[in-house]
Amino acid sequence: MDQTAPLIDPFQRAITYLRVSVTDRCDFRCVYCMSENMQFLPKKELLTLEELDRMCSTFIRLGVRKLRITGGEPLVRRDIMTFFQAMKLHLDAGTLDELTLTTNGSQLARFAEPLAAAGVKRINVSLDTLDEAKFAEVTRWGRLQQVLNGIDAAQAAGLRVKINAVALKGFNEDELFTLQEWCAARDMDLTFIEVMPMGDLGNEDRLDQYWSLKDLRARLAVRFTLTDLAMRTGGPARYVQLEETGQKIGFITPLSHNFCESCNRVRLTCTGQLYMCLGQEDMADLRAPLRASEGDALLEDAIRRAINLKPKGHDFDYSRQAVDGQMSRHMSHTGG
Ligand code: SAM
Ligand code: SF4
Repeated sequence: MDQTAPLIDPFQRAITYLRVSVTDRCDFRCVYCMSENMQFLPKKELLTLEELDRMCSTFIRLGVRKLRITGGEPLVRRDIMTFFQAMKLHLDAGTLDELTLTTNGSQLARFAEPLAAAGVKRINVSLDTLDEAKFAEVTRWGRLQQVLNGIDAAQAAGLRVKINAVALKGFNEDELFTLQEWCAARDMDLTFIEVMPMGDLGNEDRLDQYWSLKDLRARLAVRFTLTDLAMRTGGPARYVQLEETGQKIGFITPLSHNFCESCNRVRLTCTGQLYMCLGQEDMADLRAPLRASEGDALLEDAIRRAINLKPKGHDFDYSRQAVDGQMSRHMSHTGG
């Protein structure tokens, strides 16, 4: 096997984007993501920070150019900045283009400055509502003000913030324009995500929560002139520009729009399992080859074999009024 060849899957997609879940733990319990009394993994199951470094450095050697750190809540992992600082070395060396993270924002007041110092330029903050009571309801344990303070700190530290909101029928439908205006006023992009059939709420609940982004987009179009943008950020989001404000709004539509053909990403769990597709069970254990030797040859081999198994696409489908392709995995395990 050519040890220097970049990672190309069987469908000729170059794998340049790795999402890494650094913990399954979180200080929130969002209803669509976790159950209230989550059982977390024993600590010894998790990759250590040194192992995460080795894992990511190997992927970077094999051609990954963009790392997104996620969880669980990445900023609740103890000493996580050590890991960010290790990844900064790849940014400095020019072998990594972007280091970024997805966070619930609760710890940002503390971490915004150190993240900026570690070379992070853009972050995604998940926020579904600007109403304090609704925020407490959807996150179960979260406090809105703490997240707002975190966003202030991030902007003050020079980080570009994008807000990700899960579109939830009957929950934040009435906040579409409030969220849009708030983001415009703060110069933040906004992306809506369709709720995916993950976690352990029953199918009926999930169907009840499903608010199609086609509908959301149509509502935006009543007030604004929407121009489709060709830009992609290496992720599955499609963007429109609101001509009246110049603002970009993204849509992540795993259910109503199939984006698999341009998928350049794989996901690593906090236990070292590599998921080749968010919507399929196929995965490869990379922890065993990592721990089996001090050199990285076994790990590199295992990564190449895994990429060869990346499926063409996923099967989520609400169209027949039943949730097909439902995954029993929690989002916090694979990392959203
Ligand atoms: N804790 C961090 C956060 O909330 O941003 C990072 C991990 S979280 C699992 C990543 C993203 O997944 C969040 O934006 C969250 O809203 C989204 N998410 C979780 N469960 C989801 C579901 N069932 N459908 C769609 N998005 C989901
Ligand atoms: Fe935690 Fe993020 Fe899941 Fe909410 S979506 S429970 S913040 S991991």
